[in-house]
Amino acid sequence: ATQPYDNQNIFAKILRGEIPSKAVYEDDYAYAFHDINPQAPTHILVIPRGAYVSWDDFSARASDAEIAGFIRAVGHIARENGLVAPGYRLLANAGINAHQEVPHLHVHIFAGRPLGPMLA
Ligand code: 5GP
Repeated sequence: ATQPYDNQNIFAKILRGEIPSKAVYEDDYAYAFHDINPQAPTHILVIPRGAYVSWDDFSARASDAEIAGFIRAVGHIARENGLVAPGYRLLANAGINAHQEVPHLHVHIFAGRPLGPMLA
């Protein structure tokens, strides 16, 4: 079972404006901001506004509108930032084996350099 959502996680604080972040995009369903420790020239984090721990939690509990809004936001960000032609990578870590650090669903968008083969 998924862990209960922790309202004090760092991305919850970012959503509430309690911790500053550099916004890339926002709408009713999603907020996107630059990763504080970028692993590529472009490293954006996209998070749903709702309180979801991970992809499995989100897909189980979120409404169809929330899911559609979040997915559309990720694609919108890729298009609006010129990432489509050169290419980009999406990554969502979930749980211990994936080293998920922040227990609020986030999709990493990596771009701006050749990204190499996918990690095992
Ligand atoms: P995870 O390992 O959970 O998939 O990734 C968490 C990401 O959040 C890391 O890439 C880390 O650099 C980023 N991060 C952690 N704390 C903060 C913060 O306070 N602000 C921002 N912008 N990014 C953060």
